[in-house]
Amino acid sequence: MSADPNCIFCKIIAGQIPASVVHQDEHSFAFMDIAPLSEGHLLLIPKLHCERLADLPPELAAELSRQIPRIGQAVLNAMEVDGFNVLVNDGEVAGQLVKHVHFHFIPRRPKDGLGYRWHAGEYAEGRRDQLQARYQKAMKGLGSRVTD
Ligand code: AMP
Ligand code: ZN
Repeated sequence: MSADPNCIFCKIIAGQIPASVVHQDEHSFAFMDIAPLSEGHLLLIPKLHCERLADLPPELAAELSRQIPRIGQAVLNAMEVDGFNVLVNDGEVAGQLVKHVHFHFIPRRPKDGLGYRWHAGEYAEGRRDQLQARYQKAMKGLGSRVTD
């Protein structure tokens, strides 16, 4: 599906809803988040309507990824920050509200209060090997689709 008439991001791409656009090419589109986590928060999206990261055709994922360094450098230059977080919320359980794949670029500033929760865990004896085997099986089941 190239566009979903009910999708807010497809409407933005089509120019039906206004947005502060900062980049677009044949396959990708970037604009300012309307409710920023920090000043200069951007969203990079594929022009094709795809709900989930795993739905992205590999070629389109490549086209989108090509823009990541460029958008990242623009964040550093335009926002005069030393860093940013790139984030994808994939699936409702991960906080995805808009069902059109998007990469958040969130400029970070010292003491910006955004914080960073990364409570590292640990594996019980043997658990990591079990999970590795599950991943290997899953990757085999997908063939080369994802890594093409
Ligand atoms: P997520 O929770 O990852 O699905 O994030 C969706 C993001 O889209 C949120 O950060 C919203 O602020 C942003 N958003 C929703 N509607 C618009 C809009 N019309 N223009 C710009 N950003 C939007
Ligand atoms: Zn869409």
